[in-house]
Amino acid sequence: MNVHEFQAKQLFAQFGIAVPKGKEVKNVGAAEKWAAKLDTPVYVVKAQIHAGGRGKAGGVKLTKNRAEVPGLAKEILGKTLVTHQTGPKGRKVRRLLIEEGAAIAKELYLSLLVDRDSGWPVFIASTEGGMEIEEVAAHSPEKLLKELIDPAVGFQGYNGRNLAFGLGLPAIEPAIVNPFIAMLGNLYRFFMEKNATMVEINPLVVTHDKRLIALDGKVSFDDNSLFKHADVQAFRDLHEEEPLEIEASNNNLNYVKLDGNIGCMVNGAGLAMATMDVIKLAGSEPANFLDVGGGATKETVAAGFRILLKDKKVKGIFINIFGGIVRCERIAHGVIDAAKEVGIKIPVVVRLQGTNAEEGRKLLAESGLNVEVAADLWEAAQKIVALTGKKRKKKEEAA
Ligand code: GDP
Ligand code: MN
Repeated sequence: MNVHEFQAKQLFAQFGIAVPKGKEVKNVGAAEKWAAKLDTPVYVVKAQIHAGGRGKAGGVKLTKNRAEVPGLAKEILGKTLVTHQTGPKGRKVRRLLIEEGAAIAKELYLSLLVDRDSGWPVFIASTEGGMEIEEVAAHSPEKLLKELIDPAVGFQGYNGRNLAFGLGLPAIEPAIVNPFIAMLGNLYRFFMEKNATMVEINPLVVTHDKRLIALDGKVSFDDNSLFKHADVQAFRDLHEEEPLEIEASNNNLNYVKLDGNIGCMVNGAGLAMATMDVIKLAGSEPANFLDVGGGATKETVAAGFRILLKDKKVKGIFINIFGGIVRCERIAHGVIDAAKEVGIKIPVVVRLQGTNAEEGRKLLAESGLNVEVAADLWEAAQKIVALTGKKRKKKEEAA
């Protein structure tokens, strides 16, 4: 789960990481009221959406004149921001952060995430703060510093010194070397205690009066640990999530929306991935990843079916079930129920194997639905692609 910048900053503050004084507001009146309470040479008005790149897209405005805050708030609220992280559809701004400005002497980059190779937490830091870190990684990778933290011993002073001296902080501002190392320790504690999977502070700034402040904050949390953190759960913003993914999570389905046109209903994550692969191999693209789970019931299957049919891009459905704990006739009942309820006008290809497969196939064949039953995975994939039209060019055609 992702959270907003203002929420990340609230949590940072709880862990002793300095952030600017600020408040989240939802309307112009509140923006004006809060600005009146700030005593600062510069006021900052920031769009709150779950995406970076807001600065470049016009979602971060600064003014020295307090009277201009309501006007800036009005300009940004309700606007749809398109950044390199939102996709072309953009994100509508419903909340703002009104903050005191910082007098920036130097912008740094700092993040903490899980290193895929070692499985250890890793700090990534750079003196090239404020920029898109992807650009730095592509053009000057030597400016990215990495420091792995052994989770068995936790963050140590030498980890902090490696980063501080690696960044050349003593030359930038000697007074912030120790505060920087202390901040890394706080950030590590936050990361571990709250089960974050990624924390990014870009920029982490050194101010003219030699303070170290997190000017931006992006945090992702491990969904599997949310039950332990009511405070983090309360930060969930459904406006920032894909509506079909919300409906899926309410039904305990593992669903990820994709861009293709073949809806997939599969039990088991491994089989779901194999299904996506085989659709691609047959020349098309999956519209989603959907794992109805090992303990799928008639109801969860029906819910999955409704979700697939709500996606307007879906031109056909591929049901691929290996009956183990899930019995195939249950799946068939789910499909038939959902079909009666929502009405299916698009082709459906079913491959059922395993427990009670015969019974499941028979139920579907006698249901009067427009369902084709395939003998195996490859035949099923070819059938659904033939019924929905090829989307992908073969390698030799593309070349
Ligand atoms: P992002 O573009 O979505 O990553 O949003 P950020 O919070 O990083 O803001 C973008 C940029 O706005 C920062 O890199 C800063 O250069 C600038 N900015 C944000 N807050 C302040 C501030 O208080 N003072 C100054 N001078 N610049 C700021
Ligand atoms: Mn930023």
